[in-house]
Formats: sequence, structure tokens, C-alpha cells
Amino acid sequence: MSERIGFVGLGIMGGGMTRNLLKAGFEVVVWNRTVEKANVLKEQGATVATSPRAVAESAGIVLICVSDTPDVRDVIFGEQGLVHGAKAGTLVVDHSTISPGETKRIANELDTKGIRIIDAPISGGPEGAANGTLSIMAGGDAADMDRAMPFFRAMGKSITHVGPVGAGQMVKAVNQTLVLGTTLGMAEALLLAQAGGLDLQKALDAVKDGAAGSWMLSNRGPQILDRDFRPGFTIDLLQKDIRLVLEAADELGVPLPGTSLIFQLYRTLQRAGDGGKGNHGLVLALERLAGFEIEKSLPTTDA
Ligand code: NAP
Repeated sequence: MSERIGFVGLGIMGGGMTRNLLKAGFEVVVWNRTVEKANVLKEQGATVATSPRAVAESAGIVLICVSDTPDVRDVIFGEQGLVHGAKAGTLVVDHSTISPGETKRIANELDTKGIRIIDAPISGGPEGAANGTLSIMAGGDAADMDRAMPFFRAMGKSITHVGPVGAGQMVKAVNQTLVLGTTLGMAEALLLAQAGGLDLQKALDAVKDGAAGSWMLSNRGPQILDRDFRPGFTIDLLQKDIRLVLEAADELGVPLPGTSLIFQLYRTLQRAGDGGKGNHGLVLALERLAGFEIEKSLPTTDA
């Protein structure tokens, strides 16, 4: 019989992850700031708690998936934060993407109360959260990893113990740097294909399984052709991640010229009111620079 698990933060990612924990048969106690998102999980067997504190009172492991560093601090140390309900030996697993440095400070503060923590940011988008195929990059002690592993397996396909606490967030920064590069490459390539008069669907089909293939191209390329910019991951939330990447790079003295440029391109989209669109909307910034838009249908020859 596995221990009861708690989940705090049932947004796009946390909601899907919790569903997979319930599907795998775990007993899950949930809390979300907006209670409606918690209530919909009742039907699938979740118990809804009234605060993070109440979650920690009834679960030995508490998973968190909220937006940003201050939000993680709120749900852990706030007035109704989980530290007030946790017993010594409680394990906190933070799936949010936050600052690697702040993660280590949170770990030190929790350590004084005998509370353990793993930083376990995720990748794979809402699709990965819904299908239980996330990549989970975890930093923490080996014994804590063993304890969390059955839950990780219910939510993820690729689970990697990357080092001590804080290393998970650092790997996530590496992950985001890669994602940004492929997003820019995809946007530039589609504009080139459009200008070259290609059938964009055929062009995508031709390249997606070769050396140029990527998750971004396979999942978001077709959405761009449909001009579907609904978010899996919003530009506003991604800017938070880019800031974390650039801060870490600044602390380490590493130049990231490409990532800095992409931050500024997304900023132009935020200024234009497009911050709520999905991160593949980067192409919209390049379209504005190029002076033409990508269209799925073949351009007419006399255009
Ligand atoms: P989301 O749908 O906006 O959900 C954010 C969640 O955080 C909601 O449950 C929200 O509660 C909660 N929250 C925010 N601030 C809070 C606070 N101060 N106190 C309590 N709860 C708070 O975002 P998401 O896409 O699930 O992302 C969650 C985390 O996963 C972020 O760190 C993100 O960077 C990371 N991530 C996202 C993706 C993706 O593709 N979406 C992929 C990998 C990683 P309410 O419901 O009340 O607003």
C-alpha cells in the first residue's frame, strides 16, 4: 500500500498530472487556489482540501505545480502554507519551473524543519501531462527519489535523477534554452518555406523525421499552419522561464545571445497584446518583421 499523496496547483499541467495519479490508483488529496479546478477532480476520486496546510496534514508526500518562484514560496511558507501542516519526514516535490538558486534556499529552510524536497521540473507540454508522458528532471537525495519514483512513473515517461537539489531546475533551464532555439528555427524555416512557394504541409512531412525533427516541429508546426495560437504554454509564462535562464547565465557569466534575442522578440508580442497566446506564436513576431504571413494553402503562382 503506497502512502497518500497531495497535489497543490491544478493548472494546465497539474490537472493532467493529478488525473494520471488517480488513474494509477493512488489516493490523492488536492488543493487549488481557484477551487473549481479542484472540484472537477472529485469525480475521479480526489479528496479536496481547504489549504496547502490541510494537504500536508493528510499526505506524506506533497507535489506542487504552480506558476513562479514567489508562488512556490506562498504555498509552502504562506499563512496557510504546507509547512504548517507537514510533519518531519514529509517530502515536497516541486514540479514548477522556478529559480535554481531560490530552490536551494527553500531546501535549506525546509531542512531546519526536517522536511525533504526534490525539485522536479517537467517538460512535454499539456499533452505530456495529460498522457502521462512527461520528462521529469529531478534534483534531490537518492532515498527521496526512490520514495517519489512510483508517482513519477504514473506521470512521466523519462525520469532522470540529475543531481542534488537545484540541479533539476538547472537542467530545466538547459531544456528551455533548447526549446527556444527550436522554436525560432521552426518559425524562420516556415517563413522561408512560405516565401519559397512550398506546400507547407508537405515541407513539414518531408523534414519532421530527419535531423531537423523536434517535438516543437511535430506538435506546434501543424498548429501554426492552422493559425491556431491557443496556448499549451503561454508566452507570458515562458517569459518567466527565459528570465530564469538569463539570470542563471548572468550569474555564471555565460553569454546567451540567441536566448536574449528571443526574449526581446516575445516582448514585442507581449506589447502587442499577444502574451496569452501559445509560445509557438514566436512566428507572429517574425511575420511582422518579414511583412508577410504563413498560410497553409499553396500560394497562387501569380500572387
Ligand atoms: P497554469 O495553467 O497557469 O497553472 C498555474 C497554477 O498555479 C494554477 O493552479 C494556479 O492557481 C496556481 N498558482 C499560481 N500562483 C499561485 C499562488 N500564488 N498561490 C497558489 N496557487 C497559485 O500553468 P501551467 O502551465 O500548469 O504551469 C505550471 C508550472 O509548470 C509553471 O511553473 C510552468 O512554467 C511549468 N510548465 C508548464 C508547461 C506547459 O506547457 N504549460 C510545461 C512545462 C512546465 P489558479 O488556478 O487559482 O490560478
